[in-house]
Amino acid sequence: MEEDYVFKIVVIGDSAVGKTQLLGRFTRDEFFLDSKSTIGIEFQTRTVDIARRRVKAQIWDTAGQERYRAVTSAYYRGALGAMLVYDVTRRHTFEHAARWVDELRAHADKSIVVMLIGNKADLAGGRAVAADEAAAFAEEQGLFFSEASALSGENVERAFLRLLEEIHANV
Ligand code: GDP
Ligand code: MG
Repeated sequence: MEEDYVFKIVVIGDSAVGKTQLLGRFTRDEFFLDSKSTIGIEFQTRTVDIARRRVKAQIWDTAGQERYRAVTSAYYRGALGAMLVYDVTRRHTFEHAARWVDELRAHADKSIVVMLIGNKADLAGGRAVAADEAAAFAEEQGLFFSEASALSGENVERAFLRLLEEIHANV
């Protein structure tokens, strides 16, 4: 069956925070150990029902470009949503979230819906960012927020569906 909507979503954030694994978890319900970063822009899709509509999420992965600060405006073009990911065990990846927000403000549509994701929540013992602190940052910046784990799958489905629902509420 044809979908009613196609929503482009970009996944951004520092290298090795788990962007590719989150995407794989949501689109295929898989987690690959030793994921290799690839070159070039790629996307994957999954179609879900949102408010009785067929919504195809077309989710774009930076595929390693984040290392060279080479995420171009083409990547953001037409994006209705963004998953901004940091790693709860590496504090600098959270501190860089403000820079990624600046990137979005510079390149993405003003109405883009952004979800901040604190990934690797399964590694709670190595936590370097408190959930409260991230929630406060998200509120100040007008972002939705959730911790998640691409490894265990916790909150991954919920966070993507929430983002899609919020985008749907805007269209
Ligand atoms: P990317 O560079 O942001 O795309 O990060 P990747 O998805 O390639 O993941 C980087 C590394 O973190 C890999 O070794 C993954 O196996 C690991 N990883 C990703 N998500 C999780 C998670 O939720 N928990 C744990 N413990 N490791 C994760
Ligand atoms: Mg990747």
